[in-house]
Amino acid sequence: MARLAETRPETSTARTLVFDVPDWPGHLAGQHVDVRLTAEDGYAAQRSYSLSAPDRVELTVQRVPDGEVSPYLIDGLAVGDPVEMRGPVGGWFVWRPESGRDVLLIAGGSGIAPLMAMVRARRLAGSGARFRLVYSTRTPEDVFYADELRRPEPGLDVTHVYTRVAPEGWARPPGRLMPADLGDGPPDHDCFVCGPTGFVEAAADMLLARGHDPRRIKTERFG
Ligand SMILES: Cc1cc2nc3c(=O)[nH]c(=O)nc-3n(C[C@H](O)[C@H](O)[C@H](O)COP(=O)(O)OP(=O)(O)OC[C@H]3O[C@@H](n4cnc5c(N)ncnc54)[C@H](O)[C@@H]3O)c2cc1C
Repeated sequence: MARLAETRPETSTARTLVFDVPDWPGHLAGQHVDVRLTAEDGYAAQRSYSLSAPDRVELTVQRVPDGEVSPYLIDGLAVGDPVEMRGPVGGWFVWRPESGRDVLLIAGGSGIAPLMAMVRARRLAGSGARFRLVYSTRTPEDVFYADELRRPEPGLDVTHVYTRVAPEGWARPPGRLMPADLGDGPPDHDCFVCGPTGFVEAAADMLLARGHDPRRIKTERFG
């Protein structure tokens, strides 16, 4: 049984939740957990959440209006409360520090969560792999981990794409992800794409059109 240990806001509609989990076996960046909530009458709902840190059980949950589980995790759960959790789950959508290859991460909305675990795992491991993160949100206020991503970090290049509202003076007009947002250079990266289904499909198509090897494009759909 996991217990909520601390929480912190990421945006006005998202929170990071840190859990204590006895006998946690450890996990790889990119893996997720399944959280199961059971009501007093026995009704149960289960949802998946990505682990957003490489070294502890940390989830970042975006509130889906009228959602069954996410509003409860954000507003209903108090520090010390238990939660049924299974994991870590998934062995394909993972980044391993020993890989050493350059990496292109493409996040849409809360799809940043597992990709942030990869950014943090790279830092923790002192990996020399170059990472480029392209992160699409509706507005600057929707950016998770904003302070951390603003800090310059050698070998990490962060590009924000705003679909609805961009900061004053931002060169790129607001709009959906475009091929030009993915940058140039040879298409020899390990690619990880995560976000809503439509976003993931559009981004994966752009990578294929750029000549990336399909075997090195890994995707995770949040549905
Ligand atoms: C592998 C995996 C990892 C995931 N990791 C994360 C994560 O790290 N953080 C996170 O916040 N979510 C994550 N999700 C999504 C999460 O599992 C839930 O789907 C989400 O929290 C909504 O659940 P809910 O019970 O609140 O809403 P529901 O009661 O399931 O849905 C309510 C309504 O909202 C719509 N809806 C459902 N999900 C979304 C969505 N993501 N965006 C917009 N509308 C939606 C539904 O179609 C429905 O109409 C992940 C999903 C998968 C499959």
